[in-house]
Amino acid sequence: MSLLSINAITQRFGGITALSDITMSVEEGTIHGLIGPNGAGKTTLINILSGLVKPSEGSMEFNGRQNGPWPMASAVQYGIVRTFQQTRVFMGLTARENLRIAHVAGAGDANADDLIEALALGDVLDRVAGELPYAVLRRLSLALALGLRPKLLLLDEPAVGLAPDEITKMAEVIRHFHGQGLTVLLVEHNMRFLMELASRVSVFVQGRLLFEGTPAECQNNPTVIDAYLGRG
Ligand code: ATP
Repeated sequence: MSLLSINAITQRFGGITALSDITMSVEEGTIHGLIGPNGAGKTTLINILSGLVKPSEGSMEFNGRQNGPWPMASAVQYGIVRTFQQTRVFMGLTARENLRIAHVAGAGDANADDLIEALALGDVLDRVAGELPYAVLRRLSLALALGLRPKLLLLDEPAVGLAPDEITKMAEVIRHFHGQGLTVLLVEHNMRFLMELASRVSVFVQGRLLFEGTPAECQNNPTVIDAYLGRG
């Protein structure tokens, strides 16, 4: 069953067409990858789905009930939550205070405990976010997003800037929450990371949907290799 349907979405910024007639869907319970060269329109799509940007044309439907474009407050209410390429947490607050702001309750709350354990944040709860290593900050910002209990999580380059062991940890975290029923739309330049996690992959090039298929189909498709994967 499709959780999210995107119908003929076009996005123009002045003379630039960032997205052109995008139609695709994300099936419930999947990790759906979204790849493409810089400027392909991936973040623009996430901005539209999370309600940050209203598309120039087109519509979308969530969970068979909600019809968009929708504003950001509605997106969160429906269960559509995003992360950002840049880490966004309150740097002057402790990890615990950050989590409270995201309504992740304290000890004893099974969901909060699971979140803190899965994201390995237990040892840093009382440390000020601004003093935490980058990889921990990435996990904290993911915790803030997951604290909103999304049905659909839009992940914008979760592995960017992480060392290999931290990338492995991030993949485990995504798998953990996916195992609990979370659907994920995953934008990522790290092909290995993405191909290992995703069961379906859409390829954007210059604002157009060039190809969609399984990771294996994607990696073997000459058009995709020419347009993106072959660039090294
Ligand atoms: P990257 O992999 O580098 O993050 P991307 O696939 O996420 O790229 P977008 O950031 O969505 O690509 O950008 C798509 C195009 O839209 C680019 O040409 C970009 O310059 C343009 N664009 C995005 N947002 C705006 C904006 N607010 N105003 C003007 N142009 C924009």
